[in-house]
Amino acid sequence: MKQLLTTLLLVFVVNSYSQTDQKIYDIIDAISAERIKKDVKTLVDFGTRNTFSDTISDTRGIGAARRWIKSEFESISKNCNDCLDVFYQKDLVTKEGNRRVPHDAWIVNVVAIQKGTKYPNRYIIMSGDIDSRSSNTMNFEIDAPGANDNASGMAGTIEAARVLSNYQFENSIIYVGLSGEEQGLFGGAGLAKYAKEQGWDIIGILNNDMIGNIKGVDGVIDNRTFRIFSEPVPPTETERERNARRFYGGEVDGISRQLARYVHKNVKTYMPEMNPMMVYRLDRFGRGGHHRPFNDLGFAGIRIMEAHENYTQQHQDIRTENGINYGDTFEHVNFPYAKKLTAVNAINLASLASAPPAPKNIAIGGIVQPSAKFKWDKVDGAVGYKIYWRDTTSPTWDYSRYVGNVSEFVLEGIVIDNFFFGVASVGKNGYESPVVFPNKTFR
Ligand SMILES: [Zn+2]
Repeated sequence: MKQLLTTLLLVFVVNSYSQTDQKIYDIIDAISAERIKKDVKTLVDFGTRNTFSDTISDTRGIGAARRWIKSEFESISKNCNDCLDVFYQKDLVTKEGNRRVPHDAWIVNVVAIQKGTKYPNRYIIMSGDIDSRSSNTMNFEIDAPGANDNASGMAGTIEAARVLSNYQFENSIIYVGLSGEEQGLFGGAGLAKYAKEQGWDIIGILNNDMIGNIKGVDGVIDNRTFRIFSEPVPPTETERERNARRFYGGEVDGISRQLARYVHKNVKTYMPEMNPMMVYRLDRFGRGGHHRPFNDLGFAGIRIMEAHENYTQQHQDIRTENGINYGDTFEHVNFPYAKKLTAVNAINLASLASAPPAPKNIAIGGIVQPSAKFKWDKVDGAVGYKIYWRDTTSPTWDYSRYVGNVSEFVLEGIVIDNFFFGVASVGKNGYESPVVFPNKTFR
């Protein structure tokens, strides 16, 4: 009897203090490499998805591709009692003034929105790209299969919708195929502008661009590591904010960086076999991706992608030269890896869509005092708050303390000078908001 009681007690203790949710493991298991493979094949078989390619044909070109993506989202919606609102969002780009636009065309994004039950106007976004390119981006007729760049990201986005549409979340999730990436990030710019006009409260965007290559041009083969790119601070910050950073810190603590840390931590928790690698920059050196237009407007956004790229398979006409097979073709994509990175997205969409809003107006104090102190505005839906801190040289929030449902707290014995701090909201189900870096000081 005593042993039974001990066992029962142990079970109770483990459950009540559990830091993980079985639902998240179920989501990981439900992501299918086979379905991603099938969808990448379908996208590749449109021949080219160049943004300026044929829009009339049902078998070739970007028009056929986007109609197929829309019909996929619609059939997913049918299976969840119309839980997705599916539509085209489009803007016209013109040849005039655009060096990489061969003719005027509509940049058409395919959007699917799963409305949140509690905060329908708060959105977490997962994106992939519809479009592809060959060696010459102006050549919209030649084959450009774009299997990894970026049918992999597009197929992952569709697959995440399939799995997550079986659940309901408090915040809204947007699954989107963006277009016009290769010629100037047009689709992302169009949707970011649309989000601003609609007054959407954007939690962040997880932009997926190339999530299927495990064999690098350097010969390294690695199916565990992936990169999370995030810019240090928003480009929209004011001169006053920039100046304040010199004295209070925050050089590496912008909203996109906090989103990157959130993803990193969640993956370490739920997918310990993976090796998430935060890269402290907007994107690869001098290169671009569709999270950037969101960053440009002050939204949090990161790029998720493979760790080892193969340049002979990117933006290349299909050909053999000096014994090297060039081209972004189907057989180079590793689907178990694409499944893993899709799961990385899905668990973070699910977590962020289950979390309360982040605390607001976080003030920090403690100058010439032995303790650091905090004040913040409580938010609707949070049952408590968690203060995070880290050594100034650490990339991750290594220390934390749950402080309950209060709006101020003193961390006794922690000297403000030696750490960076932030505060997150905690919901009744244990899900947390991203950490927010203080934006005010007090005495
Ligand atoms: Zn590309």
